[in-house]
Amino acid sequence: MTARDGSVVAGSAGRSRGVTSAVVVGAGFAGLTAADALVAGGVDVTVLEARDRVGGRARGIQVSAEGWVDAGAAYLGDRHTALHALTAELDLKTTPTTMRGASRFALGTGESTRDGRFPPLNAVALGDLFDRLDELTAAVRPDAPWLTPGAAELDALTAASWAERHLTHPDARLFFPLFLGEMMAADPARVSILHVAFYLRSGGGLRYLNAFEGGAQQDRIDGGAHQVCERLAERLGARVRLGEPVRAVHQDEDGVTVRTASGEYRADVAVMAVPPLLADAVDYRPEPPTRRAGDRTARGCAVKVHLVYPAPVWRDHGLSGWSVNAEGPLLSTVDDSPAGAEVGVLTGFVTGGEAHRYAALDPARQRSSAVEQAARLFPMLPDPVAFHVTDWVNEAYSKGCYAALFGPGDWVRHGPTLTAPHLRVHWAGTETSTEFFGLLEGAIRSGRRVAAEVLARA
Ligand SMILES: Cc1cc2nc3c(=O)[nH]c(=O)nc-3n(C[C@H](O)[C@H](O)[C@H](O)COP(=O)(O)OP(=O)(O)OC[C@H]3O[C@@H](n4cnc5c(N)ncnc54)[C@H](O)[C@@H]3O)c2cc1C
Repeated sequence: MTARDGSVVAGSAGRSRGVTSAVVVGAGFAGLTAADALVAGGVDVTVLEARDRVGGRARGIQVSAEGWVDAGAAYLGDRHTALHALTAELDLKTTPTTMRGASRFALGTGESTRDGRFPPLNAVALGDLFDRLDELTAAVRPDAPWLTPGAAELDALTAASWAERHLTHPDARLFFPLFLGEMMAADPARVSILHVAFYLRSGGGLRYLNAFEGGAQQDRIDGGAHQVCERLAERLGARVRLGEPVRAVHQDEDGVTVRTASGEYRADVAVMAVPPLLADAVDYRPEPPTRRAGDRTARGCAVKVHLVYPAPVWRDHGLSGWSVNAEGPLLSTVDDSPAGAEVGVLTGFVTGGEAHRYAALDPARQRSSAVEQAARLFPMLPDPVAFHVTDWVNEAYSKGCYAALFGPGDWVRHGPTLTAPHLRVHWAGTETSTEFFGLLEGAIRSGRRVAAEVLARA
């Protein structure tokens, strides 16, 4: 079908009953899952993706003939049931994240090596910190955090102010921002404590989210998480259109008109499966009653660094590759060597405020500071054979990672309308999921939820 200007029409808009056509904006996990479910439900679907690839916050980097690592999302656990089912359906395998051997720490009192992952800090002070976080997490309403008792006060308070008030021991103060960086790529000054509590609860609790074996980091998708999107996109075929950044979504009584730089698409409904800061950059007519983000909604701050070596040599020295560091750029490292490793890969996480600082360095400085730090932590390392930096903070079509950070006031203001359709416009994306918010699992669940919502329209 052709539109007025010769561009494509997604289907026959304006049927008197039911939805027959939909435009899905965004080809990440949420958009592609939604599109797949809508096609299965008999809807004529077009997926419009701004980038020249699918996957969004999941992207692969090839590091050897057979080996890939994840520049974006990587880990999953047993509770990520929708992701496990989808992975199996698409004939992909998972591989365990290696965490055998001792950890390295550089937490201000010199460098040390110790078994397990518990840092060499005051155990009572860290225990108290975790107990306090557990209390907050247990009290939050997971389905509707804005209805948590005391929500307004908790939502008004940044995690940094909360720490100022409640954490007296210097070790707890040192560890809290590192923990938030690792868990949610958050700068404590940019996120409300209600959001922290909700994020932990939504992801299965502090222990589950933080754990490798038995936890949310137990496995990776062999060959990279991006393959899930590539295989879904293959299944959707020509319905997925790349290089189509959506600028406007206008709707009338009969349907929606979705405008990109190169044309316009007409359908019964639109599904916006993009992060909230990007959803707000689109011109809507009529305008939604509330925006998707506020002035204090921040970008999650993560830069991911991959150091590629001829082999995972740290394993021969009884080390797991895991490290936690008070000074950047690499605030933590993990062994992400591909299964059957022809190469060894250390992934470095640069998070929180450090991510902004590191992202601003020139490539030569980025490389030298990361390589030098890795060599201090693991003195047996040879020179890396390859080095990759992925700066998600400044990615135009992600605007931060792992997920948007809900700042002070966001949950109370935006929570109640998080998933409420704006007439013919429906909302998806991991930031609309109260289950596993910010994770791949949340994105898939949001895609399924929105597809059911669209199919249920009269
Ligand atoms: C470094 C990093 C580490 C992570 N680690 C993990 C992990 O280990 N485990 C885990 O479960 N999750 C992890 N995540 C989070 C996970 O990647 C996200 O939750 C998930 O990918 C979000 O999917 P989505 O479909 O909601 O959004 P996205 O993946 O952001 O997809 C949105 C899509 O919309 C497109 N788009 C944006 N604007 C427009 C527009 N105007 N027009 C058209 N298209 C547009 C984008 O290009 C993108 O493809 C991580 C993320 C990062 C970056």
